[in-house]
Amino acid sequence: MLIDLHTHSNISDGTQRPRELIRAAAAAGVDVLALTDHDQTTGWEEARNAAADLGVGFVPGMEITCHASVGGSVHMLSYLHDPHYQPLLDVLDVTRTSRESRAQRIVGLLAEDYPISWELVQEHTQPGSTVGRPHIADALVSVGVVINRDEAFSSMLSSRSRYYVSHPAVDAVDAVRLVLEAGGVPVFAHPMASVRGRVVPAEYFEQLIEAGLAGLEIHHRDNSVTGKKFLTDLARKHDLIVTGSSDYHGAGKPNRLGENSTDPAMLQRILSAGTGSMASI
Ligand code: AMP
Ligand code: FE
Ligand code: FE
Ligand code: ZN
Repeated sequence: MLIDLHTHSNISDGTQRPRELIRAAAAAGVDVLALTDHDQTTGWEEARNAAADLGVGFVPGMEITCHASVGGSVHMLSYLHDPHYQPLLDVLDVTRTSRESRAQRIVGLLAEDYPISWELVQEHTQPGSTVGRPHIADALVSVGVVINRDEAFSSMLSSRSRYYVSHPAVDAVDAVRLVLEAGGVPVFAHPMASVRGRVVPAEYFEQLIEAGLAGLEIHHRDNSVTGKKFLTDLARKHDLIVTGSSDYHGAGKPNRLGENSTDPAMLQRILSAGTGSMASI
């Protein structure tokens, strides 16, 4: 069983619409796929229908952009939550609105040195999708400033760049609580992704676990080898769910569908714990 529980469509910063993503998953031999766009769930319906047509199992999910009180950014996956739970929708609205004004500020700074405009970025963003630096990267690629997203992220879009602007987001401990209240299953995405920058300290994991964190995404290409060892010990100590996934973004990243997979017994635990929406397996 190939079970991939972390993927993006163009509802956020993936490059394929949900139906195309499901088609690609079927072609890659994925048996069960979760759609986990950043900060919204509007791709669920199309993905669920396509999955039913193509015989792929579907788990509704989302990746919530969060701030850690100890500093830094945390991505929290949520599976099977109620997509209409208003307190969660309220914080997601704030995040998406501030992502938009933050992207405009980044573009404003970049425009002083590069031939880029907010209109151009919008041409590379599906209307209604969660905007992020990848869309700005696509605009930069289109005018030949960089060759791909990766080059943009290692230069002008890096968090250390002088063009970088941050944005407010929900506190990660609050996100865990909100996901649980919405009947969802909170899983910490790529928790030891040191390649992306700072990771949170060990004590912070205990805070998230105390709040009800259900799982850790251990098998992810961005987690360091020592980080995976730490996470494996932590999962064993607290009997947490362990997942493995691709974090596929279509043509936006080299990550391949099904490059990491989740154990069927762990999927079963997610399916048993989630009560806010239905999987179609
Ligand atoms: P943002 O949410 O706007 O801060 O941008 C971060 C997003 O950019 C993450 O969700 C990643 O999927 C994506 N990203 C980060 N690094 C890279 C990279 N090197 N190449 C392509 N996409 C990236
Ligand atoms: Fe992304
Ligand atoms: Fe992420
Ligand atoms: Zn992701």
